[in-house]
Amino acid sequence: MKKIQLSVAEPGSGPIDTDMIIIGAGPVGLFAVFEAGLLDMRCHLIDALDKPGGQCAELYPEKPIYDIPGIPVCTGQELTDNLLHQISPFEPVFHLNQQAEQLGKTDDDRWCVTTSEGTQLRSRNIVIAAGGGSFVPKKLPLANAVEFENTSLFYSVRRMSSFAGKRVVIAGGGDSALDWALNLQPIAQHVTLLHRRDQFRAAPDSVNKMRALVAENKMDLLIGQLSSLHGKSGIINTVGIKKAGQDESRLEADALLAFYGLTMKLGPIAEWGLNRDENLISVDTEKFETSQPGIFAIGDICHYPGKLKLILSGFHEAALMCQQAFHYAFPDRKLIFRYTTSSSALHEKLGV
Ligand code: FAD
Repeated sequence: MKKIQLSVAEPGSGPIDTDMIIIGAGPVGLFAVFEAGLLDMRCHLIDALDKPGGQCAELYPEKPIYDIPGIPVCTGQELTDNLLHQISPFEPVFHLNQQAEQLGKTDDDRWCVTTSEGTQLRSRNIVIAAGGGSFVPKKLPLANAVEFENTSLFYSVRRMSSFAGKRVVIAGGGDSALDWALNLQPIAQHVTLLHRRDQFRAAPDSVNKMRALVAENKMDLLIGQLSSLHGKSGIINTVGIKKAGQDESRLEADALLAFYGLTMKLGPIAEWGLNRDENLISVDTEKFETSQPGIFAIGDICHYPGKLKLILSGFHEAALMCQQAFHYAFPDRKLIFRYTTSSSALHEKLGV
């Protein structure tokens, strides 16, 4: 299948007016774009990750899923790619690498969401499809790590060019650590990959490429634990490394990238005053609306009696949610129920 080109907005843009703001670009948020599109609602999606797909793309891209109706088997990444293909006629706009943080109201009574990057989106409909919460990086368990955060210690790469000509230490053994070691090696002054053991969770092809670069002396691989950080005014100059059975040694470095995995946190949405059932957002089962009119919750994040945390349940919730969201987006229009098989109006929207 042809790779879909995403429309990704510049961070900090806005205020942008749209028919629906979707928080979370997991499978359920993506399918909501399709259901919304059939009803003429244009969508903007916000995700803390650097790519769409939620748990499917982040936690199990290569694992097979067997319970998507009509698809006997597909991997997490294949499902994501198919959803992106399916929603492409509706030209959704993605705001990636940013967390939905603040909720407000405009003078004309619309909702306004501001992200961690300062992007502002305004709409009559907000759909929280936030799964188990935003994926956030696990932080380094070193007392002074916070002093260096975002100046020379990073948990993600926003701009590759900021590592050009630098001595970069990359800690971790998963796909992110290996991918960034390979991507930064050609532009950094030197890359050292640091992992606690000589076995990696990353794709075998990346591991082979990394080992080839190490064999050619184009980068270093160290097996040990990061034990201390040293520097001044937020700038690291050396990192301490402890190898099994040895005293701590020091390595000169200008930047440290730490990829110790991700955890999921509900984060700022917990402060939005919505009725909750522990960490989940309570909704009705007719419209999947929360305790605030115009704010909906679908997918793993929502709670109602009998809720099943399955992708197929989220798809159903998205379809019903859109029936109500349409009335907020277009108060003067009548909603007409149509089948995709037989409606020429829907065929036109889908470009088929
Ligand atoms: P998610 O996939 O969790 O996506 C939510 C997205 O929202 C994330 O990308 C997150 O970064 C983003 N987000 C959250 N809060 C914010 C915020 N404030 N700002 C910005 N972004 C935010 N289900 C099945 O039906 N069949 C299976 O076989 C199956 N197998 C599974 C196997 C594994 C290993 C796992 C972990 C899960 C499996 N599941 C399966 C469950 C399925 O993956 C979830 O039900 C599904 O991913 C939920 O989709 P979602 O879109 O609601 O949320």
